[in-house]
Amino acid sequence: MALARIALPDDPRDHDIADLTRFAAGIRGTVIRPGDDAYDQAREVHNANYDLRPLCIVQASSAADVARTVLFARETGLELAVRGGAHSLAGFGTTDGGIVLDLGQMKGLHIDPIRRLAWAQAGLRAGEYTAAAAAHGLATPFGDTGSVGIAGLTLGGGIGWLVRKYGLAIDALVSVEIVTADGRIVIASENENPDLFWAIRGGGGNFGVVTRFQFRLYPVSNVLGGALFLTPTRDALRGLQAVAEAAPEALSTISFLMPAPPAPFIPESIQGKQTLAVMFVFDGDPESGQRALEPFRALSDPMAELMMPMPYVGIYEMLKAAEQRSPAAHRSLFLETIDDAAVDAMIERMASPSSPAAMTQIRILGGQMARVSADATAFAHRDARVMVTIITPFADPAEAAIHTGWTHAYYEALRPQATGVYSNFLEVEGEDRVREAYPDVTYRRLAEIKRRYDPTNLFRLNQNIAPAASVA
Ligand SMILES: Cc1cc2nc3c(=O)[nH]c(=O)nc-3n(C[C@H](O)[C@H](O)[C@H](O)COP(=O)(O)OP(=O)(O)OC[C@H]3O[C@@H](n4cnc5c(N)ncnc54)[C@H](O)[C@@H]3O)c2cc1C
Repeated sequence: MALARIALPDDPRDHDIADLTRFAAGIRGTVIRPGDDAYDQAREVHNANYDLRPLCIVQASSAADVARTVLFARETGLELAVRGGAHSLAGFGTTDGGIVLDLGQMKGLHIDPIRRLAWAQAGLRAGEYTAAAAAHGLATPFGDTGSVGIAGLTLGGGIGWLVRKYGLAIDALVSVEIVTADGRIVIASENENPDLFWAIRGGGGNFGVVTRFQFRLYPVSNVLGGALFLTPTRDALRGLQAVAEAAPEALSTISFLMPAPPAPFIPESIQGKQTLAVMFVFDGDPESGQRALEPFRALSDPMAELMMPMPYVGIYEMLKAAEQRSPAAHRSLFLETIDDAAVDAMIERMASPSSPAAMTQIRILGGQMARVSADATAFAHRDARVMVTIITPFADPAEAAIHTGWTHAYYEALRPQATGVYSNFLEVEGEDRVREAYPDVTYRRLAEIKRRYDPTNLFRLNQNIAPAASVA
């Protein structure tokens, strides 16, 4: 396509406005440009560190819109940011001067409760899907927060409240409809394009734009959910892993070393003090859940607790605070064990955080996640036992370097014991860190599939897998 260089209003670069107008006219969804009323809201992503100004935001309404946009990006060479729920820690859902392909309006969901299957368009959030499935007493495992998009979460793996009982989100995935870099709309499943299906289960957005997911559903209705707030002693941190690993697999926990929140169920004298908040979902009867929690209560003196039988989707309500948009710094890693050195680092670093909102998230994994073989999907860290993520939300974007520096230094203290990282919990941290998300054999297979499906690396605004030819 020949590009006559005409300046677009409010955009630093020149583009062919006629081509852009022609492209936009063929989109059934909405194309938003600088100067449009909706522009500022449409360019927002969850990590408020990223305040970028795309050339246009395509709010797609169909796979055909997606294919048209992919081809337009390919022809023009414009940077393409693919967006589902906009929760990328790395800000990959936006671009300066490129095209945002936003699937957020594509929220179709069909649930077949008899066959326990769901067809879900890629713009759905975990909470929206989970609320609809709950009407049938069914659920698909996603993450810990309702506002996260099912698309980005699933393509990275998807580790959440049911991980020990039902595994990762990708373990429930049956097939996808996906638009490849050449604009084709194809199906990937165990039987159709199986290599592509393997790659998208952990390889992120490297291989195409998923427009529709087909998931299995599991019978999940009422759960016992809530949080135990424990005194954050060394012994409690040291004992947490053994207790959580010994618990029935119906119990998945996500613990936070953090200041106790100013919530009505927390005594005022404790609010703001460091606590070890063991949040949990027990997918079983409440009495068995209470029994499963006893060893956690014995880890140290309880400061407060809140738990109740609730519909599974209720746990997303409890974590509404995490949905708040703010700038934040993150570092994450898998550990084999929470040993004395890790405990020391956690206690010492959290005693002087760069931001009062800083927290250390600790997930004890295992169970069904670990039963799937490492080569079955591109997410290969199946035997990861502990995932630690340092999350540092902060108020003033101008202070990003301070908070990133503190978060990174804390991570460096834990790093000697690291056994890998989860790609969805990476920021923009360099190629070596992307490689840590995949064992070497997995990375090489991904690179080969990338070469076949996206040889020019059109889909590069992600935890990028370089096409095989350029792999060292
Ligand atoms: C508050 C919060 C809580 C979180 N909790 C969890 C958790 O409990 N468990 C967990 O596993 N992860 C969790 N995450 C991480 C989350 O899974 C990733 O950030 C994920 O990428 C978000 O997906 P999204 O669609 O919302 O984001 P987006 O920013 O829209 O997308 C992220 C990336 O995914 C790719 N992508 C998105 N949509 C598509 C598509 N349709 N086709 C192809 N590629 C696409 C693109 O590369 C895009 O850059 C959390 C993140 C946040 C911010």
